[in-house]
Amino acid sequence: MADNLSSDVIIVGGGVVGSAVAYFLAADPAGPDSITVIERDPTYETASTPRSAGGIRQQFSNPENIEIGLFGHHFVSHVAEYLSVDGDCPDLGFREGGYLFLAGPDGLDILRQNHVEQMKLGCDIALLDLVALEKQFPWLNCDGIAGAAFGRSGEGWIDPNTLMQAFKRKARSLGVVYIAGEVSALEHDRNRVSAVMLADGRRYAAGMVVNAAGANAGKIAALAGVSLPVVPRKRNVFVFDCRVPLEPAVPLLIDPTGVYVRPESGGFICGVSPPADQDPDGDTSDLEVEYHWFEEVVWPALAHRVPAFEAIKLSGAWAGYYDYNTVDQNGIVGAHPELGNLYFANGFSGHGLQQAPAVGRAIAELLVSGGFRTIDLSRFGFARFASGALVLERNIV
Ligand SMILES: Cc1cc2nc3c(=O)[nH]c(=O)nc-3n(C[C@H](O)[C@H](O)[C@H](O)COP(=O)(O)OP(=O)(O)OC[C@H]3O[C@@H](n4cnc5c(N)ncnc54)[C@H](O)[C@@H]3O)c2cc1C
Repeated sequence: MADNLSSDVIIVGGGVVGSAVAYFLAADPAGPDSITVIERDPTYETASTPRSAGGIRQQFSNPENIEIGLFGHHFVSHVAEYLSVDGDCPDLGFREGGYLFLAGPDGLDILRQNHVEQMKLGCDIALLDLVALEKQFPWLNCDGIAGAAFGRSGEGWIDPNTLMQAFKRKARSLGVVYIAGEVSALEHDRNRVSAVMLADGRRYAAGMVVNAAGANAGKIAALAGVSLPVVPRKRNVFVFDCRVPLEPAVPLLIDPTGVYVRPESGGFICGVSPPADQDPDGDTSDLEVEYHWFEEVVWPALAHRVPAFEAIKLSGAWAGYYDYNTVDQNGIVGAHPELGNLYFANGFSGHGLQQAPAVGRAIAELLVSGGFRTIDLSRFGFARFASGALVLERNIV
């Protein structure tokens, strides 16, 4: 096998995050000469991105996540300016339907505190009391609800696969090379990663390495002797039809139980994250749907919250994996403190699709100019696990 392959930057994983990093690096006139993305499965069969629910929002508790969400919306709304190739603009299918977070009496204070942060940063989120909520969404059963927050603009959902493919296509048009291969070893000493080894024996000498391996990021980090708290956690998405027309349209609704639902292609998709004690680490090759979550948790909660959902027909389902950060459920963005040329773009725990534009831009800023230039993501660095300065996010769905 050839042993003289090399690249200024090697990105491990060509999902939405890896491809966003590749795009922003390639689009920067001061960017590196050679950028290589190594992707083990160009069909993306088990990757998280095409299995995502596609939601984009600003309703987070951390200022960084709110700002990331604002840029995500800007990017999606201006995608033609960023990702058109030869005048061909990707259609992300953006539906600006809003997120509707419902809060019970226990959650109302947190909802209000989050809202203060969101308004400070310029989001268009309305706090609704019960009267306003019932008036605006008459199909809702407000039993047990004390208030809600609704994204009037800037929030909704997109087609995840289209965004990923658009990043990839644009990155390639700017000279990024995509290689099909599985990274199986990282050649390193205590200070840097010098080469990326593939399972078929190919060796790529690397100037800088970006871990964008999604739910398998922990395994990639381990190849360099780094313990990264990112594991695959299975999430099931259920598809159903409802004969009763609901007006006005259902937004992306988050029940206080954690169950979510949103419209999709004339029907709906829905799901829930299991409680921590029933949420084992998984293996991304296991894509079997766990229907008991629908029967025991999701459907009862939906039927209670939206009486029209008492009579629905399950028409499909799929499973995928969160790139789950077991410590604080937030992105890990930046270089390793000792292996200074190993960068992380990992651990997004269910919000990596919408964060890909801002994270791709942030990693490009770090690699090209050595610091964050737009949103300061210093708090999201790997060093927080040693210092204990965690970034807890209250609004994880
Ligand atoms: C059911 C579900 C619903 C979700 N809903 C939302 C949502 O509404 N909004 C939102 O923002 N996010 C959502 N997410 C999360 C989002 O999908 C992920 O955070 C995001 O897709 C992560 O992107 P990624 O590029 O890091 O990972 P991936 O898309 O998984 O890409 C990583 C790539 O790395 C490759 N790879 C792994 N190991 C190796 C190796 N050794 N060598 C080479 N390549 C390798 C994989 O093949 C894969 O293609 C959801 C996720 C799931 C599962």
